[in-house]
Amino acid sequence: MDAVEVIRTKRDKRPLSDDQIRWFIDTYTHDAGVADEQAAALLMAIFLNGMSAGELATWTRAMIDSGERLNLGGLGRPTVDKHSTGGVGDKVSLILCPLLAACGAAVPQLSGRGLGYTGGTLDKLEAIPGFRVNLTPQEWHAQLGELGCVISAAGSGLVPADRLLYALRDVTATIDSIPLIASSIMSKKIAEGTDSLVLDVKFGRGAFMVELEQATELARTMVGIGRDNGVRTSALLTDMNTPLGRTAGNALEVYEAVQVLRGELPLHGGPVDDLVGVTLALADEACRLAGLGVDPRDALRDGRAYEVWRQMVAIQGGDADAELPTAPIHELALAAPRSGYVSRLDALDVGIAAWRLGAGRARKEDAVSPVAGVVCLAKPGDRVERGQPILELHTEDRARLEQAIAALDDAVDVADEPPPACSLIRDTIRSIG
Ligand code: URA
Repeated sequence: MDAVEVIRTKRDKRPLSDDQIRWFIDTYTHDAGVADEQAAALLMAIFLNGMSAGELATWTRAMIDSGERLNLGGLGRPTVDKHSTGGVGDKVSLILCPLLAACGAAVPQLSGRGLGYTGGTLDKLEAIPGFRVNLTPQEWHAQLGELGCVISAAGSGLVPADRLLYALRDVTATIDSIPLIASSIMSKKIAEGTDSLVLDVKFGRGAFMVELEQATELARTMVGIGRDNGVRTSALLTDMNTPLGRTAGNALEVYEAVQVLRGELPLHGGPVDDLVGVTLALADEACRLAGLGVDPRDALRDGRAYEVWRQMVAIQGGDADAELPTAPIHELALAAPRSGYVSRLDALDVGIAAWRLGAGRARKEDAVSPVAGVVCLAKPGDRVERGQPILELHTEDRARLEQAIAALDDAVDVADEPPPACSLIRDTIRSIG
């Protein structure tokens, strides 16, 4: 087999054979004769020319086979996991994982870190003093069996091909390719061994995929991969034009997630509970896939989900009763241009502001501030008076404020009437009826 011939095949829009795909991924992963520049060239050819369903199935399978496959049998509970394509203020996993465990599932959540303006669950959890995201395989398995809920970093043995290919994609402008994203996400979830999977595929200004059509295609592609690999998979298409909830930033988001777990936010209706609405929609779908036959609202209301959260934090080295760290500098920003109702609050602009305040990283190796971020004092639908601040900026470094404020030039609209209430969940795509 010859790397140049594989690249030429895809460059010339001819289908790759199963053998070509398997050989290329295996040889690249094991550093046995495919150079970085050759892998980068093949990724660009795939980015430009796509992959057929057959090629994608083989590509995903080869990625899975590049590493270990976890065995979650014998836990005595159905396993169900969740993945979000990422957004601004998306702290759903922090609530959903303990909630599903409280409903009787085992949730083997292997999470990632944030890059750019979208946050990562591991960065959020590390805002809790002492919280450990790196667990041994034994610790991970024991916690999953005993508590039903673990959120940690993936070990290096899980889909090593993805780690290498993702790093190349990051520096070759080949991240936003539907087959490459779908195979990257789904190979990790399939290798992790979950029976069922709910996907939160976001579209809009603060999402990877801005257009609903693109997000729908990504959702269909991922659900198809799940079905072909025996993982019951559903995807919710959710609107990410507005930050989710009231906060964006690591400790701030943990604080808000804990408020939901403690039942301090309304469970139904109203413009401020978008976070609760998306979480419960995902929870309903996850319970359905896992055959649990329970209403997740009950486990939020009666405190069972909060109790699982407390135990998870304690087992992973944190103290659920300790105060979360807060930023030394709080600055009110984004004055309402007129009196009326907030009709738009731009997720991308708010995400960039949070990032510039220190909540996110520009490069993988950068540190993040646990306390930096943005609090939305008003959201679409809220009444504001002219000059009233709509955001509160939190940072450790006053010099960052100016850059953050510059991102917010066109972040808000105020209108005479409140915007029409509409569900953030635009569609659901299922691998089973
Ligand atoms: N997240 C992943 O894990 N992979 C991608 O390709 C994009 C987002």
